[in-house]
Amino acid sequence: MKLPTLYNTLSRRPEPFVPKDPQRVGVYCCGPTVYDLPHAGHARAALTPDVLVRFLRARGQTVTYVRNITDVDDKILARSQQTGQPPLSLSAKMAEIYRDQMHAFGCLDPDHEPKVSEHLDQIVELTAELERQGAAYVVERPEGTRDVYFSVRSFPGYGMLSRRRLDELRVGARVEKDTLKRDPLDFALWKGALEEQWGWPSPWGRGRPGWHIECSAMSRCYLGHGFDIHAGGMDLIFPHHENEIAQSEAARPDAGPFARFWIHNGFVNVDKEKMSKSLGNFVTISDIFERNDPEALRWFLLSVHYRGPVQFDTETLSDGRVIFPGVDEAERRVDYLHASLGRLEDLLVGDVRPSKRDLGTDLGDIAHAARQALAAAEQGMLDDLNTSVAVASLGELARAANELCDRVMQRRKDVDLRARAAVLAVEIRDNIGTISDWLGLLQASGEVYRTRTRERRARVRGLSSELVQDKITARQQARQTRDFARADRLRAELTALGVSLRDTPEGTVWSIEV
Ligand SMILES: [Zn+2]
Repeated sequence: MKLPTLYNTLSRRPEPFVPKDPQRVGVYCCGPTVYDLPHAGHARAALTPDVLVRFLRARGQTVTYVRNITDVDDKILARSQQTGQPPLSLSAKMAEIYRDQMHAFGCLDPDHEPKVSEHLDQIVELTAELERQGAAYVVERPEGTRDVYFSVRSFPGYGMLSRRRLDELRVGARVEKDTLKRDPLDFALWKGALEEQWGWPSPWGRGRPGWHIECSAMSRCYLGHGFDIHAGGMDLIFPHHENEIAQSEAARPDAGPFARFWIHNGFVNVDKEKMSKSLGNFVTISDIFERNDPEALRWFLLSVHYRGPVQFDTETLSDGRVIFPGVDEAERRVDYLHASLGRLEDLLVGDVRPSKRDLGTDLGDIAHAARQALAAAEQGMLDDLNTSVAVASLGELARAANELCDRVMQRRKDVDLRARAAVLAVEIRDNIGTISDWLGLLQASGEVYRTRTRERRARVRGLSSELVQDKITARQQARQTRDFARADRLRAELTALGVSLRDTPEGTVWSIEV
């Protein structure tokens, strides 16, 4: 099966993806530094490799997917000193929240999720290798500790990913106070620590690893040198990914490139500004899941190409509620898709059996639209994972499903049409399923989705299910006693609360708009 073309940051060009080993594709993604609650940017950074891995697997590839957890870091230490919680228990707690939220968000578990605290041996070994190769040097600190620095000058390829030149970088570098470093661009592989400080033993005494070295050490441990695809946010290109390349390739000068493809996802902007700690405009995943379904967040982020910026807007309503209009809109689309699938299923129940007969000309336009939508989605995914096209195709398929159901409704007594429509209904349903599998959408059944979104929307509006149910029961009683004025009044009261009713042979079903 054809594999996608991926825009490779290394070459600044789209390149057809061909695995190094046809038996196994290796994908590494830089995971979070776990010192705080995950935010929308984390969701986006996890989504891109998740879709890549799903799509490659759907194309018949065996993929090993690695996403690390940075559980040793100065930010974790600083937060732990503020809160009094030991650093590794703080990071373990945050890592658990991250994992739970990524699950809810529909991301696959990576095959390996290595933590720094469990890979000190590999990190120390790689640092020692770099020292032996003359690419790293030891700095003795006045307090008696020893740091190890990577010598940027020792690696001629430095700047290849970010396309920066060393002399330009040096001009841009802040005036370095640290006179023990040989070059202002040199970065720490190992930071010495005093006996009472957070650290681990090493050949250079007690200390902690620098940030960049962990990804070089852990990717090598699980995927080997020269693996296929390295993913991460655009903000990591420099210096993090540049440094990963320098470390890995300086340690094995004759082993070729550290990673073959580099794919980078764009930023999430909140109210037109880049989301950042200093602006305090972080939207946490918990905030979003309070108001919206995880499927809606996924749809929203997928509707933009992974390399483009996502505009995440917030709006404060007159009642003080903060909403995310873009995610609300996405949620309405997910509602529509589920409702369309529900209608297709209704078409397939009862005595209608799909048969392989000719669809006939009166359904030809719908069949054509459904096939076009699948082909367009596949083309989009092959073209650098253009999920926005695939998401639009799901919309087309939902429209095709409704058109089909409407046509059957209009000719309710046409048994032949129903039988032919059932064949097409199965095809549309399967096409929706195929695209949803690539995107990781529709992981919950329609029933589960409807129940959980209804509960969430009721909670957001301060409505209790009991209150709604009581009014529905009262309306049914009014209808039974033919008190239609009262029944209409009750319905209007519910409408005013945002609740809509649908009377079915099995009873009244209620829902709440986003
Ligand atoms: Zn990394």
